[in-house]
Amino acid sequence: MSSTNHNLLLIDDDARHAKALEAALIATNDGPSECEWVRTLSSGRERVAQKKVWAVFLNLFLPDNRGVDTFDRLRLLTTAPIVVLGGVDDEDICKTAMLHGAHDYLLEGRGHVDSYSFARAIRNITEREVARRELFTEKERAEVTLNSIGDAVLSTDISGNVTYLNVVAEAMTGWPCKEAVGHALTEVFQVIDGATHRPAPNPMELAIQENRTVGLTANCTLIRRDGHECAIEDRAAPIHDRDGQLTGAVIVFHDVSMARAMSVEMSHLARHDVLTDLPNRFLLNDRLTQAISLARRNQNQVAVLFLDLDGFKHINDSLGHSIGDKLLQSVAARLSACVRKSDTVSRLGGDEFVILLSEVWHAADAAISADKSITEVKRVHSIGEHRLHVTASIGISTYPKNGEDADTLIKNADTAMYHAKENGRDNYQFFQKEMSLQAVEHHTLESQLRYVLEREELLLHYQPKINLKRGAITSVEALVRWQHPERDLLLPGQFLAIAEETGLILGIGRWVLHEACRQTRAWLDAGLPAVPVAVNVSSLEFRSEHFLEGVRAALKKTDLDPRYLELELTETVLMRPAEFTASALEQLKALGVRLAIDDFGTGYSSLSYLTRFPIDALKLDQSFVHHIMANANDAIVVRTVIRMAKSLKHRIIAEGVETQEQLAFLQAAGCDEGQGYYFSRPVASHQFAKLLQARIAATVSK
Ligand code: C2E
Ligand code: MG
Ligand code: MG
Repeated sequence: MSSTNHNLLLIDDDARHAKALEAALIATNDGPSECEWVRTLSSGRERVAQKKVWAVFLNLFLPDNRGVDTFDRLRLLTTAPIVVLGGVDDEDICKTAMLHGAHDYLLEGRGHVDSYSFARAIRNITEREVARRELFTEKERAEVTLNSIGDAVLSTDISGNVTYLNVVAEAMTGWPCKEAVGHALTEVFQVIDGATHRPAPNPMELAIQENRTVGLTANCTLIRRDGHECAIEDRAAPIHDRDGQLTGAVIVFHDVSMARAMSVEMSHLARHDVLTDLPNRFLLNDRLTQAISLARRNQNQVAVLFLDLDGFKHINDSLGHSIGDKLLQSVAARLSACVRKSDTVSRLGGDEFVILLSEVWHAADAAISADKSITEVKRVHSIGEHRLHVTASIGISTYPKNGEDADTLIKNADTAMYHAKENGRDNYQFFQKEMSLQAVEHHTLESQLRYVLEREELLLHYQPKINLKRGAITSVEALVRWQHPERDLLLPGQFLAIAEETGLILGIGRWVLHEACRQTRAWLDAGLPAVPVAVNVSSLEFRSEHFLEGVRAALKKTDLDPRYLELELTETVLMRPAEFTASALEQLKALGVRLAIDDFGTGYSSLSYLTRFPIDALKLDQSFVHHIMANANDAIVVRTVIRMAKSLKHRIIAEGVETQEQLAFLQAAGCDEGQGYYFSRPVASHQFAKLLQARIAATVSK
């Protein structure tokens, strides 16, 4: 025990007392082993000022001082326990000294204060000292623990006055413990509901009232003394004394502002598009579902505008994704700016946006909005040094007419959007029932088209091209057909667009090329007066890096002389960057195949490529031929094109010749060749073989 470090001090001028104390020390095991003895208060005071003592026995009646004052003067200099000694009549004075902080008193009974009373007093001090130290250690341990945990701890008495705060609680409330003690809890610990900003119920009151542990209300915010707000989370529990009586409560709380900010951020991310920060599909679905139930109650309508940018893919491919992304952001900002606050602009991904108009009284309102959006998107977008033009196609569906739930409305608006695309893009279309049947059909065809090659459902029909002077077959065009398992023979117009959209055209094109070469080779092998075969090439095929290789491989595999192959490319196919097109055409030309421009006159490109590219023939689009008899302008165009082609030394072939009059006009205009129902419809290979055999195509007036 540490008390042995310090001595016991006796301040007394009675030598008998010194002796008795000496004897008592020898008799006790605990407590100090040595004792110092002085006779006056002044020497006692000197002694305690020099060195700590374990305890003091002080006679209140000394030569240099008498009464309670003796105690008071010593007390000033030491915190050690002081036991006062008095005469038999001095009990009152001793009691006063006790009130002033004396530890105990010993009175002279019939004799002097004996060793027994000293020993009892020493034991008493020792016991109290042990208890005090234990209590101190316990308290110290609790204090250190409470201050080293990350949580804030605050306690109150039973009437809700603060009794304690640890350092974290001090920091979080802004109240130092010393100052807070005694204040009402509601003053020190002010909590509000983070969402409503209304005062939150105080958990401490509940813990005391119901005598149980309670959690804080969800979304609880603590207001610090300086007004700073902090999201917190935690619980309160009642405190009991040894008898189980409620004496107060303790709240443990901690800062959850980071976690709460993170969860807010996470839930934002889950419901918004990262690129544009617009609501994503999930949030759109929620809002649309809400808008529908509101409209049901209010008997009004909801409109869904499905917007898809026209030609976005081209911009993305040619200028790069980062420009594409910026364009999407610019479109997002424009769209957001042109709707009402109550409406929602969302991005589903890619270049698809959906605008939800939550309160619509007339369908015309949706049309106005669609019109506005189209105009806004069309305005030039300045992105870096680029000035980009883009248009949008919009499909509109409305609740309740076109669907009663979010999914149906979005799906139908999407379908209507496809019709807007087919309608020339840069416009909007309202959903109609028939559209959805077409959409289903589109979808079915698409899935069946995937198996068309492995199920060998494709075939080629052949249509001759006729020399208009001599009537002989000059060449033949191979036209693809799909023998659909459940339907009639399908024409290219019924499935080629889907093949292009899905990329299936690449496989189909390869098959056509190979089959046309194989068939021509077979006719040659059969000794027929075979003619070159023309194969149509789509833009996707022409741009694919393996195209040239594919042509070479088809010729090689079928052992066909390249002279027997002609490729028909439309103007739009050639409208790619001129350098790429020129070099691709040069390479094809170097192979020895012939090149023709199909549907000439329908594209928008300049005529310059006619001189720049190594082209053999022009196929005048059938729309001109159909109108030559009725439309003077078309007649002029046809004559001009024929003359121009001749001067450039290109063969010119008129497509879609159906009547004797058209034929006569073309012959008079000096057109070289013609193709059309007037001579022959596209026919199956065995029928075409017969035409070759006869070496006649049709009746051509000479
Ligand atoms: P195109 O290359 O302009 O082919 C001529 C189209 O006009 C053929 O339609 C043909 O049947 C039709 N036609 C021929 N004579 C007449 C006529 O006197 N009057 C009328 N009204 N039409 C006539 P088809 O077979 O439906 O092919 C349509 C288009 O599909 C073709 O136009 C071509 O661009 C494309 N196509 C056909 N086969 C293939 C192919 O294997 N690959 C690719 N990429 N496209 C093909
Ligand atoms: Mg063609
Ligand atoms: Mg054509």
